[in-house]
Formats: sequence, structure tokens, C-alpha cells
Amino acid sequence: MKKKKTYFWRQISFLFCYSAVCILLVSVTYFAGESLASIDAQRDASAFAGERITVIIDAGHGGRDGGASTEDGVLEKDLNLSVAKKLQSLLLLTDMNVVMTRETDIMLAEESSSHKKLDDLNSRLDMADDFEKCIFVSIHMNKFPVEKYSGLQVYYSKNDAQSRVLADIIQNKTSALLQSGNARITKAADSSIYILHHIEVPAVLVECGFLSNKTEAALLMDEEYQGKLAAIIAASVAEFAESIE
Ligand SMILES: [Zn+2]
Repeated sequence: MKKKKTYFWRQISFLFCYSAVCILLVSVTYFAGESLASIDAQRDASAFAGERITVIIDAGHGGRDGGASTEDGVLEKDLNLSVAKKLQSLLLLTDMNVVMTRETDIMLAEESSSHKKLDDLNSRLDMADDFEKCIFVSIHMNKFPVEKYSGLQVYYSKNDAQSRVLADIIQNKTSALLQSGNARITKAADSSIYILHHIEVPAVLVECGFLSNKTEAALLMDEEYQGKLAAIIAASVAEFAESIE
């Protein structure tokens, strides 16, 4: 009985916090003086970006590169794209310019290339050169040989000090609003994370959770949970963008 009561209050407090995230996003839109009618104009093109901040949303992997997979064969590339699109929808409610590295199941490399994976990563990396003020957010799912590990973890680029600030906001908001038991801390990316190792703008890679953990994998495949992840990342990016404007 006591357990039930605790669970109930947890749900209530989560809903409260979740609403707070939504209100924050709506406020950002309101204060930006942006109307939904002009959202189409923000969908592409560096030519329209001007002095606005551009958020590049990178859905990891794609095409013949499926990334990690669940026990049942659900591929990371598809889950990454689903979360990335939800994040895109939320950030388009702000005044920021939003660009996706991919919106379909593709690899960003020529079919004839003999080093497709490297070309793919460089294509994503090069997009950051097209914009004056830019934030790069890469979406991935984790996997580990031991099933027990779970929880979102954010990696940041060491090349721009602001990257860690954004990573910490996402990590802390996740612990506060979605995963109260998540004690993970943000980590600096080493050379094994190619894009973060080379990029020169504020950049993070969000490992949304572990596909190797059955409970978490089920959540990561759930559209509603993906929406919660996207809301937390969107609110974090909006808060971060205000601090660098
Ligand atoms: Zn990945």
C-alpha cells in the first residue's frame, strides 16, 4: 500500500515537472515573438539563418549503418531518428533555426565510396561550418555486454568549453525530471567519438539509454517516452541558447 502511494506521488510530481518543461518551451516561443505560421520558413537553409542560433540535430547512424540493436533486432538508427524528429518539432516552436543531418533512413555518403562510414561522419561534421552560431546535438542509444546498466548519459566535445555546459544541463534535467535514480555524470568525448573529437562548436552526444537493458529498451521504443526525452533535450537546448545569446 505504502509503495502504491509513493508510486502515485512520483507520477504526480513527474507530471508536474513535465508540465514545467512544456511551459518553458511555450514561454520561449512567446518571448521570441514567433508565430507558428512562420515555422516553415525556419526549416532549412543557412541563407535564412542570419544571426539566429542554428541547432543541428544529428540522428546517429542510418542506411546500411544500423548502429546498436535490441535483443529483438530493433535498430538504433530508427530509434535515433524518431527521437530526433520529436526534438525537431519542439525546437521549431522556438525562434532557433533547426537543421537535421538526416530525416530519412540514409547514410550521408556516396554509394561508390570505399570509406562510407568516414564520409558519413564528415558530412555530418561539415554541416556545422555552414552556420555562424551553431549548436550540435547528436542522438544515440547505448549498448553494453552486461544487461544491468541503464540510464541516459551525455558526452561533450572538449574543443569548445560551452559543450560541457549544455551536456550538464541535459544530464541534470534528466535526473530531475525523468530518471531520479540516474547518478551518471557527463563525460568528455575522446577520439573514439569522431564528430565530437573534431567539431569546433558547442556539441554534445546524448546516449538516450541502453538497448542492452530490456526494461530500458522497451521504454526507448515507446513513442511517449521518446517524447519525454525530446522535451528534456529541447528545454535544455533552449536554456543553453539563452545563456550564449
Ligand atoms: Zn550510436
